[in-house]
Amino acid sequence: MSRQRELADYESLTKECRACPLRDGCNQVVFGEGNPEARLMLVGEGPGADEDRLGRPFVGAAGQLLNKILDAGRFPRHEVYICNVVKCRPPSNRLPLPNEVKACLPHLERQIELINPEIIICLGALATQVLVDPKARITRDRGKWVRKEGRLIMPTFHPAALLRDPSKKRPVWEDIQKVMAVYHEEWK
Ligand code: URA
Repeated sequence: MSRQRELADYESLTKECRACPLRDGCNQVVFGEGNPEARLMLVGEGPGADEDRLGRPFVGAAGQLLNKILDAGRFPRHEVYICNVVKCRPPSNRLPLPNEVKACLPHLERQIELINPEIIICLGALATQVLVDPKARITRDRGKWVRKEGRLIMPTFHPAALLRDPSKKRPVWEDIQKVMAVYHEEWK
C-alpha cells in the first residue's frame, strides 16, 4: 500500500477517535496535512478556532506567520507535513491536559512512523516536551539539535509566541537557518 493511502486510512480511523473528551467539544478532528513523504515535519500544539472550523492545521494568525517562516526557509508548504500534538481543539484554546496529550500520542507517533521525516521542528514547549523531553524548557532548549530514533529534532518557539513577543523572531530565524543548512544541503 502506498504511504499516501496508509496515511489516509489512518486519518479516517482518527476521525472515529473518542479516547479523550476533547472530541465532544470540537467541530472536527484536525489530523494534519502535507506531503506524506515529507523530509520535514512541523508539530504544533493543537487546533485553534480557525483550524477547528476548516479542518486544517495552522490556518489562523499563527498559521499565516508559519507560512512566512516556511517561505523564508524555502520550505514550500506542500513539500512538508504539518500537524499538532493533539488533533482536537481544546476549549477556549487552553493547553491540552496531560491525559488528552497521552490519549492523542499514538496518533502523532503513527504519523511520524508513516511519514518517516528526517527532520522534525517542534513548534513550542508542548511539542518539545512530548517529542524530546518532558522536562524541556523552550527558552533554554530551542535551537539545539536533538537526535532521536534516527531523526533530527529542532525545538523552536511557537509562531503564536512570536505574535505576542516579536523579539522571538530573531532566535526562530536562527533556528530555521540551522534546519535550512541540513535540509537544503542534503537535498542536492
Ligand atoms: N496553533 C497550533 O499549535 N496549531 C495549529 O494548528 C494552530 C495554532
